[in-house]
Amino acid sequence: MQFFDRQTIQRQLLHWYERHGRQDLPWQQEPTPYRVWVSEIMLQQTQVATVIPYYQRFTQRFPTIEKLATASLDEVLQLWAGLGYYSRGRNLHRTAQIILTEFNGQFPNDLSLLRQLPGIGEYTAGAIMSFAFRQPAAIVDGNVKRVISRLHTLPDWPGHPTTHRLIWEIASHYTPAADCHLYNQAIMDLGATVCTRKRPDCDNCPWQTHCQAYRQRQTDRFPVAKPAKEKPTQERYFLLLQDDRQNILLHRRPPTGIWGGLWSLPECALHENIGDWCEQQYGLFVKQQQALPKFKHSFSHYHLLIHPLALQVHDMTTAIREQTDVQWCTNQHALTQGIPSPVKQLLEQYQ
Ligand code: SF4
Repeated sequence: MQFFDRQTIQRQLLHWYERHGRQDLPWQQEPTPYRVWVSEIMLQQTQVATVIPYYQRFTQRFPTIEKLATASLDEVLQLWAGLGYYSRGRNLHRTAQIILTEFNGQFPNDLSLLRQLPGIGEYTAGAIMSFAFRQPAAIVDGNVKRVISRLHTLPDWPGHPTTHRLIWEIASHYTPAADCHLYNQAIMDLGATVCTRKRPDCDNCPWQTHCQAYRQRQTDRFPVAKPAKEKPTQERYFLLLQDDRQNILLHRRPPTGIWGGLWSLPECALHENIGDWCEQQYGLFVKQQQALPKFKHSFSHYHLLIHPLALQVHDMTTAIREQTDVQWCTNQHALTQGIPSPVKQLLEQYQ
């Protein structure tokens, strides 16, 4: 790998950042380790514009790590509902508790200790070191991967282990020891606003003279796309169980896995006999059943085809009242809980 002159690369980018970089994002004001950490976790897989209102609500409700650590997981997930990838919310809560009890409420100023905390990988640890502690540390997010892949026309897709390592190596090579936080913000901003996925604005790019993809007029070929793989589709019944008082049954999902810890609708496989299933699971007698229009929800690894069924049921036993992870509630109350977005969509339609 042949690098470009490091000082020139840094100077050009920092000069561009002074004039065009984003310097008014909420987490850039008062960049404490706590605020940087929350923002970086939210920004994983989610666009800045979507994150901003969530971030503001979250940091208003939990202004310190103590407030977050001592809140209930339910409350944390409620504020997370709609952002997706709920393991991020659970890890945030767990890490806050570890920092409070094992680090006296202070984030460790150490890359390897940070990386041992739940939900903090090499990118987030680098971001906390750089933005909050102002220590020299490279960071690589999706934007940085794209810029570097184009700058050096990397021949394989960024998720390939060899390319992944190479991108970190290139990023570390160019990241300066001084003003590292400005450089890191600048390269991410360049990717977000100039070196965009579609139609990069190369005429306004500070690295145009170096960029190999631009010189070869092949910016659309980089980064190299991930080899295509068909996503499988799973199908499930989602049950809107309504009792004699028109209350809806919610069931909390197990703490790990998809939508872990969120309240959701009971669901079962399509081969189940619904009447038998409701009786066995909850002691409910099904009086009436109506199929609602099915719809698709996509996760990163598969599609879920949801078959909603509205069921009028009669509660024959006390089985439900004895379970802590099952509750009857009004549709309106259900909508205020931390619930997955397709369930919210269904409850809103059914209201
Ligand atoms: S010249 Fe174009 S493709 Fe190359 S880094 Fe700049 S914006 Fe991206």
